[in-house]
Amino acid sequence: IVRVRLEKLSYFLNKFEALWFMHNLDILLFSLIQPGYLHNLLPDSAPDHPDTLEQVLEDVKTKILPGVTHWQSPSFFAFYPSNSSVAGFLGDILSTGLGIVGFSWITSPAATELEIIVLDWLAKLLNLPEQFLSEGNGGGVIQGSASESVHVAMTAARDKVLRRVGKNALGKLVVYSSDQTHSSLQKACQIAGIHPENCRVLKADSSTNYTLRPELLQEAVSRDLEAGLIPFFLGANVGTTSSGAVDPLASLGKIANRNEMWFHVDAAYAGSACICPEYRQYIDGVETADSFNMNAHKWLLTNFDCSLLWVKDQSTLTEAFSTNPEYLQNKASQANLVVDYKDWQIALSRRFRSLKLWMVLRLYGAETLKNYIRNHIKLATVFEQLVSQDPNFEVITPRIFSLVCFRMVPVDNDEKKCNDRNRELLEAVNSSGKLFIIHTVSTNNSLSLSFFCSSFILVGNVLIYIYRFASETGSLGENLFT
Ligand code: PLP
Repeated sequence: IVRVRLEKLSYFLNKFEALWFMHNLDILLFSLIQPGYLHNLLPDSAPDHPDTLEQVLEDVKTKILPGVTHWQSPSFFAFYPSNSSVAGFLGDILSTGLGIVGFSWITSPAATELEIIVLDWLAKLLNLPEQFLSEGNGGGVIQGSASESVHVAMTAARDKVLRRVGKNALGKLVVYSSDQTHSSLQKACQIAGIHPENCRVLKADSSTNYTLRPELLQEAVSRDLEAGLIPFFLGANVGTTSSGAVDPLASLGKIANRNEMWFHVDAAYAGSACICPEYRQYIDGVETADSFNMNAHKWLLTNFDCSLLWVKDQSTLTEAFSTNPEYLQNKASQANLVVDYKDWQIALSRRFRSLKLWMVLRLYGAETLKNYIRNHIKLATVFEQLVSQDPNFEVITPRIFSLVCFRMVPVDNDEKKCNDRNRELLEAVNSSGKLFIIHTVSTNNSLSLSFFCSSFILVGNVLIYIYRFASETGSLGENLFT
C-alpha cells in the first residue's frame, strides 16, 4: 500500500481521506463504549509466554478498535485538526526504525542538524523575523506539544527575569493572558511556580471576536507596577481554541517590550495557515515576540507529535534547561560547537521527529501544503455560508480559518432554552458515532457548536446530518430534514 501511495503521492494527498472514508463506512468514528470496557476483555496480567501475532491482531480488531476514536476520519470535526499523512507516516516509520535517542549532537548528529535545518525552513515559510533563525542567536526546536512549548518559554522567561531582579522575587512575578488562552498557559504557571494570584486572566473583548484588548493589558500592567509587582510574561493567541480569535500582536507586543516582559505567541492550530501569503498577516507583530509556537501535528500533515517552538535568543533556553553531568560530556559539547537539544526542553531523551516534518515538506512541497490549508478554509467558508443562510442557525463568531462556531438560534429570546437545545443536538449528533463535533461557551454563557473543517468531505452533507438530528430530537420543525 505504501509503495502504491508513494508513486501517486500528490494524487493520494487529495484522495487519501476520501478513500479512507469509503473503506471505513462501517467503522464508527466516535467510540460508543462505556468506561472500563477493556478491563473486562483483557487478562489481568501479561502472558508468561508469547502470544502469536495473529492472536494479537485479532484482539486489536475485536477489542481495541471498538474503543478507538478515529481522529483521521473525514467526519472528525472536533477539538482541532490532527491531520497525519502518508509522508509523515513514512517519516515516523524511518524514525522508529532507526530508533535513535538524539538528546545531544553526539548521540546522532543528523538528528540535531536536520532539526535545525527543518525549523529554519519552516521559519522562512512563515516569514518569521530573521532573529528566529539559527544563523544568529535564535533557533527552533521540536517539542512534544504546545503545552511543553509554552512551559519551556515561561521557564526561560522566569529565569531570565529572576537573573535581573533576584531569585527572591519569584512571588512578585505576574503573567498576563486573555480568558480565551488555552489552559496550557495556566498549567505552565502552576509548574513554573507563579503565585496563583499573579496570573492575570483578562476578559477578552466579545465585540472583536474575543481578542485581548491592548488597553486592558496596559491598565493591568500599570496597576501591578504600582503595587510593586513585576510583570514578566505575556501570552497572546493566533487562533484561540474556542473561536479561532487572533490577538493584536503588534500592539500587545509593544506593551510587553516596553515593560521588559517576555512575549510568547501561541499559534498552535492556526500557525500552519500563515505559510500562505494571504494569511501571513495574522502573525504580523510576531517581530515583537520572544517566542512563537505552532503545531505541525495539528494542521500541517505531520503526524503527532511535532510542536514547533522558536526563540529569538537560544541562550535563554540553555540557561534555564542545561545540565552537564559527567556521563553526558563530550568534546563537541564542551567546545560549544554544537546544539544539544536536551538543553532546550524538559526531558533528556528525544525522538528523531524532524524526519517526518522533513519528509512532509519534501514529498508534498510548500505549494501543496498551502493549497491543502486553503482547501480546508474554503470548505469552512461553504459551511459557514450554508449555516448563515438558514434561519434556524446562526454563526456565532466571525470565521477566520477553518473553525466555524454556530448554533441553533434562540426562540423567544430564551437563551437558557437555546443552550439546552444546542446541547441536546450536540449529544444526538455525537452519540450517533458517525460525526464528531464539540462545543464551546462564550463569555456571555451562550453555548455554540464548533466545527473544525479539516478534511475532505462535502460539508453540505454534514449540515444535512446535523439537520437530521435536529429534527429527530425535535429541536427543529419536523419538516426541515425533508
Ligand atoms: N494552544 C492552543 C491554541 C491550542 O488550541 C491547544 C490545543 O487545543 C494547545 C495550545 C495545547 O496543545 P497541545 O495538546 O499540543 O499541548
